[in-house]
Amino acid sequence: MADRVSPHYLGIDIGGTNIRLGIVDGKGKVLIRYRIPTLKKQGKDKVIARLLRAIEFIIKKSARPVKGIGIGCPGPLDNRKGIVLSPPNLPDWKGVPLKKIVEKRFRLPVILENDANLIGLGENWRGAGKNASSMVLLTLGTGIGSAFILGKRLWSGSRGFASEFGHVSIDLNGPRCGCGNRGCIEVYASATAVARRLKEALKKGETSRVFKSTKDNITADGIYLAAKKGDRLSRRIVDETGLYLGAAIANIVNALNPEMIVISGGMAKAGKPLLDKIKETVKERALKESRRGLKIVVGRLGEDAGIIGAVKFLGI
Ligand SMILES: [Zn+2]
Repeated sequence: MADRVSPHYLGIDIGGTNIRLGIVDGKGKVLIRYRIPTLKKQGKDKVIARLLRAIEFIIKKSARPVKGIGIGCPGPLDNRKGIVLSPPNLPDWKGVPLKKIVEKRFRLPVILENDANLIGLGENWRGAGKNASSMVLLTLGTGIGSAFILGKRLWSGSRGFASEFGHVSIDLNGPRCGCGNRGCIEVYASATAVARRLKEALKKGETSRVFKSTKDNITADGIYLAAKKGDRLSRRIVDETGLYLGAAIANIVNALNPEMIVISGGMAKAGKPLLDKIKETVKERALKESRRGLKIVVGRLGEDAGIIGAVKFLGI
């Protein structure tokens, strides 16, 4: 009965390639989905104009009035003022007051938060981490994003810049990362890094049944597929990725003793071999008491996670 009067909300996930919008009910169910290409090369003004048109379009399609808009965007960003700071994925968006722009146009409450944080909230509300009061989400894509949910609440840090798991260093003398540090997990285990590591192996003279030359279209997804088909070099790359991720996760497990680690993003496609190696490494490296009862699982909401989390962040 209560559902008959419960309002709807709009969740938005802005990515470097696509912008996803979804009308979501008060229980976290996505009712209408709409996606537009980001086309970031057009420049921020055109992208934002198309975003506003897409919001207008989907709000009109909603069967009930929309009561708030939650937006996830690549960080870093000022989540209190709702300003995009300097996302590497959307370089010309520096200083865009996105919250204000959308609020002014639609006269609705708007929140802006880091996209990975919202994926974590989504998985914690409706996905793989549904019953966990503490969980760490890792999303493995171009970079590595993360979210820390502690006591059922998102921990975004003293000034909103927490959960930069991608910059946990696993090697003091490792390769230089874009952040200035060395040996960050992102340099080894993001989708970009996985493809780079296979290319490096080919350059050193190693051979693969699937990838003949560094000029081939080498992607992380392709490597996982090749590994499943038995390509030895791809399998080794997947195995090492699991080792690197497991070592980084062990640090987090010792520090936070969470109930659950949820892994989402494209790399979740690597499936069981990667997950097994991560679990094995965490077992070897994390303290026994800190890892007791720990669950390491793959995210369940796929591309809806950010939209659902954005609505949760509105405080419903
Ligand atoms: Zn780094």
